[in-house]
Amino acid sequence: MIEPLTRLPDGTVKQVNPITGTKVWTLPGRAARPLGQPMHHPLPIDPADHDSHCAFCAARKRETTPEIARLVRDDAGWREVRGVLADDLDETVAEFRLIPNLFEILSYDYWHLAHGWEPTEASRARRTAYLASAGGRAHVTALARIRMRARGAEGADAEPLAHDDLEREAVGLFAGNHQVVVARRHHLDGATDDSQLAGSGTLTPEEHWQYTDLTIRAMRDLYRDNDCARYVSVFQNWLAPAGASFDHLHKQVVAIDELGTQKEDEIALVRDEPDVFARWGARYAAEQGLVVARTEHAVAFAGVGHRYPALVVHVTGPGACPWDLTDEQRRDFSDLVHACHAATGVHVPSNEEWHHRPPGVDVPMPLRAVLKWRISTLAGFEGGTKIYVNTISPWDVRDRAVARLRELARAGALSDRVTIGR
Ligand SMILES: [Zn+2]
Repeated sequence: MIEPLTRLPDGTVKQVNPITGTKVWTLPGRAARPLGQPMHHPLPIDPADHDSHCAFCAARKRETTPEIARLVRDDAGWREVRGVLADDLDETVAEFRLIPNLFEILSYDYWHLAHGWEPTEASRARRTAYLASAGGRAHVTALARIRMRARGAEGADAEPLAHDDLEREAVGLFAGNHQVVVARRHHLDGATDDSQLAGSGTLTPEEHWQYTDLTIRAMRDLYRDNDCARYVSVFQNWLAPAGASFDHLHKQVVAIDELGTQKEDEIALVRDEPDVFARWGARYAAEQGLVVARTEHAVAFAGVGHRYPALVVHVTGPGACPWDLTDEQRRDFSDLVHACHAATGVHVPSNEEWHHRPPGVDVPMPLRAVLKWRISTLAGFEGGTKIYVNTISPWDVRDRAVARLRELARAGALSDRVTIGR
């Protein structure tokens, strides 16, 4: 076993990720740019653009695919509404929406032709109901044309669109194995300029919990509805440098038909060393003074050996599939992921990547999230050596996050389940 963290006499920190083996060097004198500055000079928001800044905004729902589910908050609390029809899209305010991705990583055709997968009864019923109204047909027709044009398919501009084309595209649109969870706000409520973005960390802890749990349910349902799905990848790209198409908060949930190399390696590691995640997660972070915050059932710490400076959240405990964790465990996970985003700030581009135990795997693997700060650009040195250079050591990540969390806690912006540091 290689020691994950080594400090050299000149101040260089060499890191080796104990799970993946990724090597990272933090070099002294490569001063970090200040974090959290807006990417450009803020511009006033035009009131005429209200709720229509991008295709994920509430006034542009017909530019996204027919909705699978939405979360509505009213006097009675939160409730999930499924299968809203085109004519009813504006009847309630959706705090979060679950929609199929218009351009999937793996298409319906992929699953159908490679695995013989067929849409579920529920998705077929949703399609039939949606297409039964003129408004629903117009919505799906417009999306079918966009998909056909993107592929260069003939007949995309036919008037009217051929029946067979509409039917074929509709099957894929309603049976997507790549879904998106979209938050309501693009900017903060009452924002006056475009730097006042609404990110994960500006949600309330309660809103973040609802967002997290809707994502976990979407993950569970993708496994349930597609028995060829071996893994469901969950991630959030925030801001363009991190790969986001829009500066509008969303997560992606993508079924794939392989575990991927990293997951296969992790499973082999857990078979050899069943407590590997506890040993090299919470315990190692505590030994090294890297813990950022805790809840009863989860811990957040500065990650070791990630390509970018990272905050990591591990659910402690037995390592069940995410939807089999208790409400308390899932809530504790959400509260710490929320705190990590709040400490990071909305102007830092980031990737949030989840890792979990898929249902087909019989070894315990805890639900984990890695929040990577995309503040540097990988270059030829990294490509040639597979050694990643960054400017902020894990201890600096920890110190920055803890300092910011203390301010946020004083402002009442964190869940009261969160204990900072230690
Ligand atoms: Zn938007």
